[in-house]
Amino acid sequence: MPELPEIETIVRGLRPIAVGRRIVGYDTRQPKAINLPLDELRARGRQEIQAVDRRGKSAVIRLQIADLWLHLGLQGQLLYDPPGAPPPTGEPMVSILLEDGARLRLERIFMGHAHLLDSAASAARAAKLGVDPLELPDNCLRGLAAKKPGLGCKAVLMDQALVAGVGNVYSDEALHRARLHPARKLGSLSPDEVERLWAAVREVLSESIECGGDETYTDLAGRAGTFTPRVHGRKDCATCGGPTLRQAFGGRGGYLCPTCQLTRE
Ligand SMILES: [Zn+2]
Repeated sequence: MPELPEIETIVRGLRPIAVGRRIVGYDTRQPKAINLPLDELRARGRQEIQAVDRRGKSAVIRLQIADLWLHLGLQGQLLYDPPGAPPPTGEPMVSILLEDGARLRLERIFMGHAHLLDSAASAARAAKLGVDPLELPDNCLRGLAAKKPGLGCKAVLMDQALVAGVGNVYSDEALHRARLHPARKLGSLSPDEVERLWAAVREVLSESIECGGDETYTDLAGRAGTFTPRVHGRKDCATCGGPTLRQAFGGRGGYLCPTCQLTRE
């Protein structure tokens, strides 16, 4: 699933392209994937895109009285076709038409969606998300370690209500960088380890954004990211060269290096 760096890459690309333009229509071959009552927006003269933001793992297109939340599901892509671009070869899952004939194409959005929420509903959805590690540099793990000491480190990082935007890949990478075992309980971390983990979360996310995200995903132009995980999805650890271990953590298959992440509760 695209995580914070992949969505941030898309949002940074989309912002200069989309702000100030109007949404004039859409096509879809999966009607449940989109809820965009354009007649209502048109009647109120509110089709112009005011801003593009990221909330957790979603891109949010702001339309003044409502927000269009784009969630790319498990493997989704958001692509931009400038005015005059040839029509896409395959049928896109959802195609959002901008004025001048430009198009935003959502592809492969299995379990994803584009949903318009009015301002109150949008704010309520945003309020369910936890701390954004890039927007709030203060270490939220300090407070969580006191309040929820029994939670495992990886589970905390992946819980969107606690830390927004981090999923399976970047939780593995952050724990590997901090040299902490994913199953360590938050309450068992020393103050130094708590600081190390939060710094590692912010570092891996920032580095991946610099790379345009993980190589599995693309930017709006279809260019793949260049971030290479050091432990996630690998047979050998990129730091020590030893074999990695794949283990289930809360129903997800996470990776760790038993040499680099030896410490355990
Ligand atoms: Zn290692």
